[in-house]
Amino acid sequence: RAKALGKGQYYIFDPAMHDEALNRLQLENDLRRAVERQEFKVYYQPIISLTTGKIYGFEALVRWQHPTRGFISPIDFIPVAEETGLIASIDLWVLQESVRQLQAWQHQNLINDKVTCSVNLSARHFLQFSFIQHLRELLEATQINPQMIKLEITESAIANKNQATLDILHQIRDCHIELSIDDFGTGYSSLSYLEEFPVNVLKIDRSFIKRIDDPEHQCGLVPGIIGIAHTMGMIAIAEGVETPIQLEKLRGLGCDFAQGYLFSKPLDPEAIAELLARSPQW
Ligand code: C2E
Ligand code: MG
Ligand code: MG
Ligand code: MG
Repeated sequence: RAKALGKGQYYIFDPAMHDEALNRLQLENDLRRAVERQEFKVYYQPIISLTTGKIYGFEALVRWQHPTRGFISPIDFIPVAEETGLIASIDLWVLQESVRQLQAWQHQNLINDKVTCSVNLSARHFLQFSFIQHLRELLEATQINPQMIKLEITESAIANKNQATLDILHQIRDCHIELSIDDFGTGYSSLSYLEEFPVNVLKIDRSFIKRIDDPEHQCGLVPGIIGIAHTMGMIAIAEGVETPIQLEKLRGLGCDFAQGYLFSKPLDPEAIAELLARSPQW
């Protein structure tokens, strides 16, 4: 299967590698058309207050229903979307759709304007100059209470500390939109960054929550992370809470909010509306 490249040069033709490259190219092409074809949908996962037991808000999580391949997980297509730059239009669409949905639920009297929706942003996108313009336009056009929207960025997105990043974060804050750090504890940012960045929420990564049931483990870093959040005037949200034991421990540690399969998986908007209608006090 060796093919000549030139005098004395050969490469080995590997059909598996060829398939992978083709697949990847196909995925890129499909992704390009998916926004126009409206193949994405936003699912919402409730975030619960550990003091009142009520819904504090939701996290918006994008879903892709591919016409022939079926459901594709964001874990598989977000990296491709980031590499190709398509993430900018996807993130913006999720943001617009979340705002539209919040306002629809408000009109149906299912929520009030204390309920929040947290939208994930890729660093590739929010660091572009156009992002803040789009954000201002959206706020202006919809007149949504900006406190209802939270933006989630990962620790690694701001690990590269520079003035431009700091400026953008401050511009977001000037729009009265609060920022959360997603998957906190898994990146490599130094704690001194937290003091400089205008951040309001630390989301404790699921990998830390998973370990707190373990009697040998003494809750690991979770008490420390909650302590850091509170010391800096921020709130702590636990991600991926799956068991009642985890919930009790988090409550005991003074964690403010939690989300996870114990309460609810991410649900489509219809299911969320039912849940809100059934139990507004939830
Ligand atoms: P994330 O922002 O950390 O979101 C939390 C992920 O954990 C979600 O996965 C959610 O479904 C899952 N999860 C929630 N509770 C539990 C639980 O109790 N157990 C387990 N095992 N998992 C739980 P999902 O929806 O597959 O999203 C994966 C990641 O893709 C997200 O992680 C986020 O980084 C990214 N993502 C999702 N939607 C968007 C988006 O609109 N824009 C961008 N840029 N990224 C997104
Ligand atoms: Mg998130
Ligand atoms: Mg997360
Ligand atoms: Mg995560």
